[in-house]
Amino acid sequence: MKSFDLIVLGGGSGGLAVAQRAAEYGARVAVFEHGRLGGTCVNVGCVPKKVMWNAAEIAHLMRQASHYGFDLSVGRHDWGVLKRGRDAYVERLNGIYRRNLDNKDIVTVLSRGRFTGPREIVDEAGEGYCAEHVVIATGGYPRVPELPGAEQGITSDGFFELEAQPERVAVVGSGYIAVELAGVFRALGSEVSVFVRFDRLLRSFDSMLSEHLMSNMRAAGIEIVCDAVPRAVGGANSFALETEDGRTFEGFDALLWAIGRQPNTAGLGLEHAGVETTPRGNVVVDAWQNTSAEGVYAIGDVTGRAELTPVAIAAGRRLGDRIFGGQSERRLSYELIPTVIFSHPPIGTIGLTEDEARERHGADALRIYRSEFVPMFNALTEAKPKTAMKLVTVGEEERVVGCHVIGIGADEMVQGFAVAMSMGARKSDLDDTIAIHPTSAEELVTMR
Ligand code: NDP
Repeated sequence: MKSFDLIVLGGGSGGLAVAQRAAEYGARVAVFEHGRLGGTCVNVGCVPKKVMWNAAEIAHLMRQASHYGFDLSVGRHDWGVLKRGRDAYVERLNGIYRRNLDNKDIVTVLSRGRFTGPREIVDEAGEGYCAEHVVIATGGYPRVPELPGAEQGITSDGFFELEAQPERVAVVGSGYIAVELAGVFRALGSEVSVFVRFDRLLRSFDSMLSEHLMSNMRAAGIEIVCDAVPRAVGGANSFALETEDGRTFEGFDALLWAIGRQPNTAGLGLEHAGVETTPRGNVVVDAWQNTSAEGVYAIGDVTGRAELTPVAIAAGRRLGDRIFGGQSERRLSYELIPTVIFSHPPIGTIGLTEDEARERHGADALRIYRSEFVPMFNALTEAKPKTAMKLVTVGEEERVVGCHVIGIGADEMVQGFAVAMSMGARKSDLDDTIAIHPTSAEELVTMR
């Protein structure tokens, strides 16, 4: 049996982060990965998505260029060229990730790993491995509902395999992926309908964001169908989506499920290790990423908490610091996680929504600051989409507990405000900060 200090199951964002941090402290580490290194983020998530978002932004810019004096005639868009460039970039990253592991003397086992005992793993060839510490970082995969015909649809994984652009797309879901991929399809020329179960997209975000987002998406020509609970997928030459209330929407040549993700825990042999899971299959962890089994930890999407790449990386690095770096108090706080939704325009958000703050602190303790304006970029353009911002502050000192922005540049705006908020920024600290002019971000330090 091969012996290590640390075995990591899963070579995605979280797994690679903990493996490398542990190796930097001198630990002997093995990473099990049966697919491509980099996991969801690099292969079928953030990275190729951002390439597609960039393409969509270029399309938006070209449509506006004439207002800045350009005599631009835009021909057809070649989805295949974009896909090949994107795939080649991802492949380069896969190679870089492998070299990074090799450079740190981390053993990469190109196989699935399965527990045979508390800290014992077997690979697909039947070889045994053991370690003092094992981290489960196996991530997840997109959920497909159990409905008649549902298997005919694709998920975000299938989106990245598309060789050609579909003409009419149905997107089912109302979270990050539905919003982002609907925006890409539309910007590049598809007809897009988004089906949401309730009355709005991004229900768990501040309502100002979803209101502005929906009006921007509709202005871009995206159909948003509310109160649409899917019942079945039918159709012969094209897809038809039937909803619970008896409506049928027909004529789609692609249907994309974007209704959340499932953890990759089946087949891991967790029962042999004594690792508890939730009814949905997520690994149960405490505030220190410990599972119910001694010396076994879990990080990232497999835990079902804040399924975001930087969260998995941060949890992995801190766990490495704690186990191998002698920093016994080091752990990730899941409060104040900044996040961006790559819509058009993008959304940047951190902290409590107005509703959450009201519930947690009481209405009397809140003071809300809002700003709405047409960004300078649109001064010359025909379309006048608005940027909207909200600061949620609490108490007499007006501590900033929420910062929500939708508008051009929001994706690059909130990172710095996240630093300020994690240091306990008050509204007066923002007021005392010199504005950068002319930008949209300056509004966040000049609100009254
Ligand atoms: P999300 O959890 O963001 O959203 C899925 C939404 O779909 C649910 O919130 C729910 O909204 C709706 N839904 C759930 N079940 C059904 C159903 N059976 N039929 C119709 N609608 C349903 O999941 P995504 O798949 O969009 O993304 C997965 C995760 O990946 C995200 O949580 C995010 O953490 C991560 N991600 C992050 C990105 C980023 O950082 N920019 C980009 C993409 C993904 P409702 O209850 O309102 O119906």
